Amino acid sequence: MANEDRAGVATDAEPAARLLHGVVDQLVEGWRTRPERPVSPVTADAAEIRAWLGKYPLEKPEDLEQAVPDVLAALDRWTVHTDHPGYFGLFNPSATWAGVAGDLITAAVNPQLAAWSHAPFAVEAEQRCIDLFAERLGLPDTAGGHFTSGGAEANATAVLTALTHAFPGYSTGGLRSLDAAPVFYAGADSHLAWLKIAHSAGLGRDACRLVPSDPSGRLDVATLEAMLAEDRRDGKAPFLVVATAGTTGAGMIDPLPRIADLAREAGLRFHVDAAWGGAACLSDRLRGILNGIERADTITVDAHKWLSVPMGAGMFFTRDRAELSSSFTVSTSYMPGQVEDTADPYTTSAQWSRRFIGLKLWLSLLAYGVSGYRDQIERDAALGQELRDQLSGAGWLVVNDTPLPIVCATRADAPADPEASWQWHSDLADRVNATGSAWVSPVRVAGRPALRVCVISWRTRTEDLVRLREILGRG
Ligand SMILES: *Cc1c(COP(=O)(O)O)cnc(C)c1O
Repeated sequence: MANEDRAGVATDAEPAARLLHGVVDQLVEGWRTRPERPVSPVTADAAEIRAWLGKYPLEKPEDLEQAVPDVLAALDRWTVHTDHPGYFGLFNPSATWAGVAGDLITAAVNPQLAAWSHAPFAVEAEQRCIDLFAERLGLPDTAGGHFTSGGAEANATAVLTALTHAFPGYSTGGLRSLDAAPVFYAGADSHLAWLKIAHSAGLGRDACRLVPSDPSGRLDVATLEAMLAEDRRDGKAPFLVVATAGTTGAGMIDPLPRIADLAREAGLRFHVDAAWGGAACLSDRLRGILNGIERADTITVDAHKWLSVPMGAGMFFTRDRAELSSSFTVSTSYMPGQVEDTADPYTTSAQWSRRFIGLKLWLSLLAYGVSGYRDQIERDAALGQELRDQLSGAGWLVVNDTPLPIVCATRADAPADPEASWQWHSDLADRVNATGSAWVSPVRVAGRPALRVCVISWRTRTEDLVRLREILGRG
């Protein structure tokens, strides 16, 4: 859009359509040819990228239709491509096309979801998704929840609602009104956003008590019990225990029923962080691995991980939706009034201005159905098993035991010394990634270095696993 008849940022319909059609065509072409190009840039130099950005001084209007191909080329060169079938990475999926369309629609319509009355369709569509998942997770009719920017926000919401529930003085008097210092528990292999959350909640990072894992990489319940008893003796105020259903590193599922029992006996809140693994609830064959999740007070499931919608899309669930307003209610004269039988998201969640995050999931469910998701999730799990078998057959030792499609493996010729072993696995990952055909990462499972390979792209097929095994075979 050159300097056509326009003032400020105004744009006419015709150039807008040309711009968007052009973007869409180039995106689809980039996606189509992605498997022929490297998963990740071989080198990324910050100075070079900053120099590239300097080409555009951003002072005067420039032709966007000309700049878009340039920008897409820069992204192509300087991005790890999660839409590549050889991306075996960190739960960043190839986005569903229905999800991409959903995000485009959301961006263009730009509904404001703070108050129900401003965006009734959008708020209800999000609630439809939340209800569908709450039911699949086994939560009761009283359950509710909302979309979040991601798992970290959902987990922060779990801490806030737990504090508000456990300590009646907390919401007005804050932590300083409490007699004892609150502490909560999560596994050492849990997602360590918990430390940032403890920090920002004012609890302090030490209040997040990391419970050592057992040798399999699951939270060790006996140690949790001992830590709890010791903290009580020390005059601390335990209020929450977090179980992870699908650890980020190794896909391990903490013993949910035992942790639920312990939480009940000890009078603690019980949160399940199922950011990635929670998607398994859509498969009748796999959902049993989440047994015990239905006893949680609160649950995190990300839509932008295994459910493959574009970032950022997390979901927070609570078994008692009435609780949300205790943590988030506020009223002001300038916000629209509440409509009967509805809840205004700004009074039940951390965000105020809210994007229509849920459309990309709702449209994906519409396009593929729960049945399509079930097939995808079961297929990914089967590919994970295939990879496990292939690597074991090729002399690798698989060190994690999970039905989820993450394989963490090491080899007999890896050094015994932990630091040298970490370096060995890191170097190996670098060599794999430098081929451009695959992307993998080093990881520690219960402290032990390994190579981590996660089936996360819906584009990944058996032939991609075979190629990876060949690359690994070259050492
Ligand atoms: C990814 C992840 C998170 C953090 O979620 P974001 O969406 O990255 O904020 C939390 N917990 C687990 C288990 C995760 O895998």
